[in-house]
Amino acid sequence: MKTYGHWIDGAEHAPASGEHIPSTSPWTGATVAEIPSGDSADVAAAVTSASAALAAWRALKPGVRGRLLADLADGIRAERQLLADLEGAEAGKPAAQSLREVDAAASYFDFYAGLSNIPSGEVIDLGPGMHGYTTHEPYGVIGVITPWNAPLNQAARAVAPALLAGNVVVVKPSEFTSATTLELARIATVAGLPAGVLNVVTGTGVGAGQPLVEHRDVRKLAFTGSLRAGRQIGRVAADRVLPLTLELGGKSANIVFADADLPEAAAGSVRAFTANAGQVCSAGTRLLVADEIHDEFVQLLLERVKSVQPGESYGQLTTEDQFTKVQSYFEVARQDGATLAAGGAATGEGWLVEPTVYTDVTNSMTIAREEIFGPVLAVLRFSTEDEAIAIANDSEFGLAAGIWTSDVARAHRVAARLEAGQVYVNEWLTGLVEGPFGGNKNSGYGREKGMEALRHYTQTKFVAVKL
Ligand code: NAD
Repeated sequence: MKTYGHWIDGAEHAPASGEHIPSTSPWTGATVAEIPSGDSADVAAAVTSASAALAAWRALKPGVRGRLLADLADGIRAERQLLADLEGAEAGKPAAQSLREVDAAASYFDFYAGLSNIPSGEVIDLGPGMHGYTTHEPYGVIGVITPWNAPLNQAARAVAPALLAGNVVVVKPSEFTSATTLELARIATVAGLPAGVLNVVTGTGVGAGQPLVEHRDVRKLAFTGSLRAGRQIGRVAADRVLPLTLELGGKSANIVFADADLPEAAAGSVRAFTANAGQVCSAGTRLLVADEIHDEFVQLLLERVKSVQPGESYGQLTTEDQFTKVQSYFEVARQDGATLAAGGAATGEGWLVEPTVYTDVTNSMTIAREEIFGPVLAVLRFSTEDEAIAIANDSEFGLAAGIWTSDVARAHRVAARLEAGQVYVNEWLTGLVEGPFGGNKNSGYGREKGMEALRHYTQTKFVAVKL
């Protein structure tokens, strides 16, 4: 068990308060690490360090920054087992999944390193005697606040494009799962990133997160987490006119048409709601099934659910609060009159929950409207394409959506009408680095991942010159 300091200016720093917060393993209940209980003094130290590093970092050629990000990716892979062990212990993930997530974190740094030499900016024709062009400039100090469900990944996905674009970063990870983000910053320093370019301050949302949002030298903030906290941050940001990327929750619709490959669709639909024990913002938790195949498909789905092993296929709910919250929805579903078709209970080992399927769900029931963030599926039925789209879009969220069909024209037609930031056809994908990711409606705004994230970590400058 390690007692960490914050990572500020390329070194460990004891918290100003002198206090630490234990992180607990959902597997054993044992303390995994003690992380600093940060406050505004720690945040100020990190922002000062980042500000001091900015000029030299943004003056580097993009290819040099890219080279350092590639070295950081190698550094992550070199410490793959240590990172996976920590992520598995703090977040409650099975070993194989933790290893995959560490590899995915490295791939963000590889991906953005590979983009370092692409042309940026454009020439704008202003007619004879004038020359116009745009450049994409870094904001400066970027604040990044992450949740507990995929801590290393979510840090990597924001840090990699932000750094490549010439920004410097202060990350505030979830107080439940901070260790791998602290290790990431250490590995970055070992890999050669200059001191101050990547800092990590840990602590609670109120203790360390809020001071980061409020700090006047933070010029842009990327937040991943709940709608509740996203709204609070949005209010503070409004006063400061602070640009935000908000990645919030979801209640994503997964639509199975009668012409789909049903066994494939059943397998994909089970992955969609059970991956990471359902603690995935883009989980497919509302399954919309065409009337004419409903009963046959639900049978296939339930057969498939039997092969899901809690503890192996997926891990623990990460926090005790989350464990309690997920179980409270079992009672809500019963009161709403949904039919329990599978699961509906904890397994009795730590915070593991059975894969749970409800049928006879209508879109007005609470389990079809609220994000549960556990392995819980609501199955609804539809009779026409228009009705499927209407049900899918009748949600306060709009993060992801799925379509299962063998009709290519239908796939594109429905994709165009779904209110979601990403649409998956004949597969349910998580963890892609290459494609832009983000929400519509209450799922947030701005985009992470892909080329597009680079634009969200830069501001465009237009220059017009009289020749
Ligand atoms: P949370 O909102 O409680 O916490 C997220 C982070 O914000 C933590 O680091 C927390 O300390 C911090 N925080 C909380 N209140 C704050 C405040 N007022 N000011 C500044 N920081 C504050 O969320 P959680 O429970 O850790 O994570 C689960 C939620 O995250 C789910 O709703 C899920 O959908 C969402 N999520 C979204 C995405 C996405 O990309 N859209 C990805 C993963 C998780």
